[in-house]
Amino acid sequence: MRNPLFDALFAPMEGQDRPLIHLPDGTTLSAGDFHAMVARFAHALQAVGATEGARVVVQAAKTPQMLALYGASVATGAVFLPLNTGYTAEEVAYFVEDSGACLMLVDSDQRPKMEPLAAQHGIRLETLGHAGSFDALTDGLAERFTPASRTPDDLAALLYTSGTTGRSKGAMMSHDNLLSNARTLVDLWRFSDQDVLLHALPIFHTHGLFVACNVVFLSGAQMIFQPRFDLETVIEALPRATTMMGVPTFYTRLLDDPRLTQDLVGHMRLFISGSAPLLAETHKAWQDRTGQAILERYGMTETNMLTSNPYDGPRKPGTVGPPLPDVTLRITEPDNGTPLAQGETGMIEVRGPNVFKGYWQMPEKTAAEFRADGFFITGDLGLVDADGNVQIVGRAKDLIISGGFNVYPKEVELVLDEMPGVLESAVIGVPHPDFGEGVLAVLASTGEGPDIGAIKAVMQNRLARYKQPKDYVLLPELPRNTMGKVQKAELRARYRDQFASKNAAGA
Ligand code: AMP
Repeated sequence: MRNPLFDALFAPMEGQDRPLIHLPDGTTLSAGDFHAMVARFAHALQAVGATEGARVVVQAAKTPQMLALYGASVATGAVFLPLNTGYTAEEVAYFVEDSGACLMLVDSDQRPKMEPLAAQHGIRLETLGHAGSFDALTDGLAERFTPASRTPDDLAALLYTSGTTGRSKGAMMSHDNLLSNARTLVDLWRFSDQDVLLHALPIFHTHGLFVACNVVFLSGAQMIFQPRFDLETVIEALPRATTMMGVPTFYTRLLDDPRLTQDLVGHMRLFISGSAPLLAETHKAWQDRTGQAILERYGMTETNMLTSNPYDGPRKPGTVGPPLPDVTLRITEPDNGTPLAQGETGMIEVRGPNVFKGYWQMPEKTAAEFRADGFFITGDLGLVDADGNVQIVGRAKDLIISGGFNVYPKEVELVLDEMPGVLESAVIGVPHPDFGEGVLAVLASTGEGPDIGAIKAVMQNRLARYKQPKDYVLLPELPRNTMGKVQKAELRARYRDQFASKNAAGA
């Protein structure tokens, strides 16, 4: 029986004493123990019917258990569906319903919040962690599991991304999408069993889950698992790491600390950045301080990684490097897909084994985002420079990336527009010294105007923290063009200094 992803990532760990995950409490989980956990979890998933093709929703803290559920889902042939831990119950309900999942796993303390949702959707709810119901299910189960047979094209995961329409789409990732990309990255970035990755990213997103963990699993490396980016614990762990993957905010926060020196990180062989643009000035400041050039790469949920600066040779600040060896990338006229000449700016389109299978149960949306010849339209605008490096110049849509997380303005606007005193709203991203971009809400208001305190309170219940506006601006009306479209570019220009001071608006 073959199961491409399980066979490559998890099977080789069986019985191995080597360290795999270093935990915050100072203990270490060996590869063999992790493999045994995956096997027990797989038996439990099988017992509750989470087998071939079934969707398994997980919204849980960053623990080895959460990661073992990924391995166990792959083993039973189920489809792993991790959710941002910041999502409210209202947000989670959409993913449960849209995916038609059969099982949902949450942290024990979330049970009261999720129980009504599970009952309403007729989905089985289990809890992870201390005295969790799932742990009880797995107790005493066998520590070996024969994985379900899967083809390279079978689904392994469903990662929800969102459109500017505000409706999230489930990106279908096959075994081969994930495995081919992991193989390419291990090779390109020279990962080996000598590596220790400092892992401070979340594991519900493609960066921390697939880029980081798949690369570690495939190469036999170890990781220092930290629940989140915390400056103190990261600085404390750096001497034990050989590599780190991070969003640009990691690097700017470290640069703000005088303890970041060549002495602290001189032994490390690789710093990787992605998920949002790394400013050329950050790249230069890092190199000046540490003597190391950050390697910037570019990818997205739907495509896995697409480009990377080289391991050997110059890593050019402000570029994301050339396409990966198995990726074909072209720049086109956004409206019609006509290829543009080198150096011209247009839509970035890509094709390769890493590109997803389409959006879950949305054939029209899938068709709209692929060209007839199979190229995926990324929605990012960019160019290829004279050296073959890709430069991303902006996003075609108005996506905001704050601290590495995507914020879709429409989703925030829909909540704002319901508020008394708000006529309409425009949510934009403007430069923020800490988060890259900060969410700013521009409100057109009626006579008395809205109560901002009340809006903030509603936001806290309805939206994940990173989506909540960091500041509010009131206007009598929003600027529009002759076609009636709100001029977000104009708003962005007008308020580009809103967060210029670090202490601005609760940054
Ligand atoms: P996500 O699907 O959350 O991974 O977000 C993907 C988007 O993040 C891409 O479409 C880009 O707009 C952006 N992105 C990822 N990496 C980079 C990078 N190195 N530089 C600029 N933008 C990036």
